[in-house]
Amino acid sequence: QPPFDVHAVRRDFPILQERINGRQLVWLDNAATTHKPQTVIDRISHFYAHENSNIHRAAHALAARATDAYEGARERVRRFINAPDVNEVIFVRGTTEAINLVAKSWGAQHIGEGDEIIVSHLEHHANIVPWQQLAAAKGAKLRVIPVDDSGQVLLDEYRKLLNSRTKLVSITQVSNALGTITPVKQIIALARGVGAKTLVDGAQSVSHMRIDVQDLDADFFVFSGHKVFGPTGIGALWGKRAVLEQMPPWQGGGNMIADVTFEKTVYQAIPNKFEAGTGNIADAVGLGAAIDYVTRIGIDNIARYEHQLLEYGTHHLKPIPGVRLIGTASDKASVMSFVLDGYTTEEVGKALNEEGIAVRTGHHCAQPILRRFGVETTVRPSLAFYNTYGEIDRLVAVISRLACQRRTTATTGSTLP
Ligand code: PMP
Repeated sequence: QPPFDVHAVRRDFPILQERINGRQLVWLDNAATTHKPQTVIDRISHFYAHENSNIHRAAHALAARATDAYEGARERVRRFINAPDVNEVIFVRGTTEAINLVAKSWGAQHIGEGDEIIVSHLEHHANIVPWQQLAAAKGAKLRVIPVDDSGQVLLDEYRKLLNSRTKLVSITQVSNALGTITPVKQIIALARGVGAKTLVDGAQSVSHMRIDVQDLDADFFVFSGHKVFGPTGIGALWGKRAVLEQMPPWQGGGNMIADVTFEKTVYQAIPNKFEAGTGNIADAVGLGAAIDYVTRIGIDNIARYEHQLLEYGTHHLKPIPGVRLIGTASDKASVMSFVLDGYTTEEVGKALNEEGIAVRTGHHCAQPILRRFGVETTVRPSLAFYNTYGEIDRLVAVISRLACQRRTTATTGSTLP
């Protein structure tokens, strides 16, 4: 039994009532993006109807309302990830922008020729490309922690990569392609042993498990609002105050300055130093509402229920003839990546869509890890707390039918319908 009323929760998400090809939508594409509860939708329209203003600048009532709403959202993010200081939370467009900010600002300052940056084989392209660009510009080297056949990082191999030239270890907490939960706390502690800074990509973890940046002891933690039931176009970069304070701004403009003359600019303190220009105020406020919603259900309740759902789904998908699960680590969240003999992943995705079931098929912006398993694409159902056992049954029924049709075709030689 789930520790909350899933059917009541589902009623909070209007889009889950959509009908696709005559069937009620089954949304199993949560790793790509999550849906928004009515409270988030309402909070954004309330902002535009009653609070809309630019922040910080004008001394009028709506500016004060907008500023309070925006800063209230920052405080919600702080609490959600247990950061010690609200000024350490910087609003950005999302995970991608957060990582690029760190690469462009901290990286430009601290990475030099011969230095090494470590990522894992599991990373999303957003946690590969910015480091590759930085390494190319600086003459530094990108090194990769390999994974075992279950898709878990090999800690012993990681230990061998660490040395005095290691300046940064940037690692995902949950793989978006396989669902592997990586041992980030251990990875961070080992990095600290050689004096390297650490960044945790929390894009796939924030909606599935409790985050405590103080317990993790990373230098940076980044995530996207749209993957945790908030709006698109907003996310957060958290960094340790001492690290952020030493970093140069990455963009210049309004909001981030204390004083400007043609000779010289004095920057604002954090977080404004990193928030040049008019930010995504309304969506930051929407993210705050999403965090309130998740907090009300309880992230530990969510983690427990999703774990049961994932076990159920895996248990029923695995034995289907022709199904090959990619990513079988003992510690996983949300994701069941697989391929099905006799079908392209696009064909499987299309057959599921015909039944109203949404999954992502493709390379999931993580080509290196899929190639590690000898595939270019997978079918990737991914769960959230509003999914049900019944929805997984519908997924399994379609995959079983496809598998059965393939076997019939193989024995009778007839072509696929
Ligand atoms: N990292 C991981 C692990 C992700 O899953 C994603 C989104 N698929 C990203 C980074 C990039 O996030 P965004 O596109 O929201 O910037």
